[in-house]
Amino acid sequence: MRRSLLYAILAILGCLVFIGGLKAAVAWQRPSVPILIYHNVLDADEARRDSLSHNAPVLSPSAFESNLAYLEREGYETVTLRQVSDFVEGRGSLPPKPVAITFDDGWEGVYRFAYPLLVKHKMKATVFVIARQVQDPRRRQPFTTERLTMLDWDQVREMDSSGRIDIESHTYDLHKRSSPDGAPSDYPAAIARLTVGGAIETDAAYRRRLNEDFKAAERVFRAQLRRTPRFVAWPYGAHNHAALETARSRGYRATLTTDYGVDCAGDDLMRLRRVSLSEHGTPDVDGAIREARYAPEIYSLKQCVKALLRIPNDP
Ligand SMILES: [Zn+2]
Repeated sequence: MRRSLLYAILAILGCLVFIGGLKAAVAWQRPSVPILIYHNVLDADEARRDSLSHNAPVLSPSAFESNLAYLEREGYETVTLRQVSDFVEGRGSLPPKPVAITFDDGWEGVYRFAYPLLVKHKMKATVFVIARQVQDPRRRQPFTTERLTMLDWDQVREMDSSGRIDIESHTYDLHKRSSPDGAPSDYPAAIARLTVGGAIETDAAYRRRLNEDFKAAERVFRAQLRRTPRFVAWPYGAHNHAALETARSRGYRATLTTDYGVDCAGDDLMRLRRVSLSEHGTPDVDGAIREARYAPEIYSLKQCVKALLRIPNDP
């Protein structure tokens, strides 16, 4: 009885490996574009970078540049999110080896250390800023590598007008896990029903709050950059139907998640996948892009195998 169960499991595993391999091979062949996620680049010593990384991964300029050098050496060409969106919609063509580079949060290290390297290597990138946290240049905190500082609007404008960096939205003020009156929430503000003044938000109030946040980001963008954002990256990658509906109804071209994978023609523009890189040392861009090409297939296969392997252990 036990032996037949083992054979059955082995047969199922064999089938899954075969199907998974086939799907991975098909995924590998499909034209796709990886969108890389970075956060901060800072020229501080390793211990300092590590201690600051609890907020978001902090890379050294040399680690970031070795990523750019790898992309250059392998013939990758950086593309804009507008080009990615055209491709996903099935129009417009991309270079043979396209890659998009994104930075979340709007840390000042991006302006000081990543931006000059992108210019040096003639590469393009998108920086997603939390509109409420971008600093007023006249009242800003001075830059230091001892703590993390956010970009100011002068730096944002300089990058935006360079033709290399596109500035987009990481929401106005949804990058937190608390209500407007400070009550903590277990979930990111973009998907949580918050407690405001002791009462839980109704569905209508929740949707209104999302819409107001988008309107606020657009107002700030208009005042500072003379245009509205066209793309939004969800804080913590957290999104739901109402959040996607808000972005769609306000005319955003696409929204970006932190779901692991590459993007192909015909995919959902409102849920673009991205490729996260290792948080420490020099991220392995090569390995990350390769894995992201077939990640969804491998992940589902891994889950099936895990679930199956647990069967004999069940009472
Ligand atoms: Zn973020």
